[in-house]
Amino acid sequence: MALSGLDIYKLLPKTNCRECGFVTCLAFAMQLAKKSVSIDKCPYVSAEAKHALESASQPPIRPVEIGAGENKLVLGNETVLFRHEEKFRNPCGIGFILDDTASETEYKKVLGRINTMKFERVGQQLSVNLVAVKNTGDAKRFAAAVKIVFENTSFPLVLMSDDVSALQDALAVCADKRPLVYKATKENFTELVPIIKKYNVPVVVSGATVEGLAGLTQELVKSGIQDLVLDTGIKSAKDKLWDLTQFRRLALKKANRSVGYPVLTVVEQSDNFQEAHEAATYILKYASIVLLRGLDNWEILSLLTLRQNIYSDPQKPLQIEPKLYPVGAVNDKSPVLITTNFSLSYYTVLSEVEASKVPSYILSVDTEGMSVLTAWAAEKFTPEKITDSLNKSGTAGTVSHRTLIIPGYVAGMSGDLEEKSGWKIIVGPKEAAALPSFMKNLR
Ligand code: SF4
Repeated sequence: MALSGLDIYKLLPKTNCRECGFVTCLAFAMQLAKKSVSIDKCPYVSAEAKHALESASQPPIRPVEIGAGENKLVLGNETVLFRHEEKFRNPCGIGFILDDTASETEYKKVLGRINTMKFERVGQQLSVNLVAVKNTGDAKRFAAAVKIVFENTSFPLVLMSDDVSALQDALAVCADKRPLVYKATKENFTELVPIIKKYNVPVVVSGATVEGLAGLTQELVKSGIQDLVLDTGIKSAKDKLWDLTQFRRLALKKANRSVGYPVLTVVEQSDNFQEAHEAATYILKYASIVLLRGLDNWEILSLLTLRQNIYSDPQKPLQIEPKLYPVGAVNDKSPVLITTNFSLSYYTVLSEVEASKVPSYILSVDTEGMSVLTAWAAEKFTPEKITDSLNKSGTAGTVSHRTLIIPGYVAGMSGDLEEKSGWKIIVGPKEAAALPSFMKNLR
């Protein structure tokens, strides 16, 4: 947990000798709290105080990297319990569990599907993140399956086995891509530790209780293994949610370093709706990885959309560049619609304009990422702002007409806007869904 300036001051010598370059120890402490100076500037600070300050500067939930290259996944480093306090930082990784029993052809088919499971939403690419291979009993078959999967996907792997020698064989195939090893337990960790150290890979630490896991992570840290991910096994959604919340609270509020790690959840439900429901619960609070089996687009797109919303910055609405966007094969007679630069507003209008098949321009006005009605209420979507946008975007030089379509919700500004901009105003529908028929009739 970060220390305040006063907390730090209590650790300093309080002699005000000025050797650090500051007039008082308190002034130096305030700068340390802001992280704008280093503790090394004070030659008189005790080793104990230095250690306390260094520990306090560690993130409460350790960042852990899985995989390598462009699909590398960074987990943890979260600093808040609730998204509105600041933001959630590293999005939960979503991965698929594949048993080691498939043929090479079957693996290639399913991996072809996973590798291309990408969606675009409000201008962002959404993608899944991991492939987990699960050992069903035979160590050789497991290593062979890992090799095929490794060669046919660039997503980071999770190696799932209770058999330490099977994990070792699988690591020999793919360790350079830094897979996540699942799992170290109370029973196997002494055997597994040298292998994890040899390959320098992250490992899941598994135990049924929060207390038991805390003890196990301390043992692993003492052995020199730092990159840990927590797991409390398969439980009911209610119990799992309790565990996830306890980990987050203990790490952030009690500065309990032994549970300050990302957490993995495995969802094993035969019913896809139940699986999606459970996975969504864990994405909301506070899983860093969710592994599941369902490969249906509806399920994955729902989870990716939820994750996108949860991991966006609540203080910075998703926004696009404010400018004039052509849609389709536009010409100088194409209609011009106006909306805000809030991503969701723009992309909703865009998809409906595309559906209308009427080539058009959309002028996105800089409203600091607010939607139409919010921006209007906050006086960010006013006749003056829209006129300014028209001028800056060069819309008048792009089209030969002077007609602007405004959202129906701001119909009240049409007279004023017409006067200020000199453009004729047509009031469009309130809801974007009505745009296709509106645009066709406009013709
Ligand atoms: S050098 Fe250390 S003791 Fe001297 S003023 Fe700075 S913080 Fe205080």
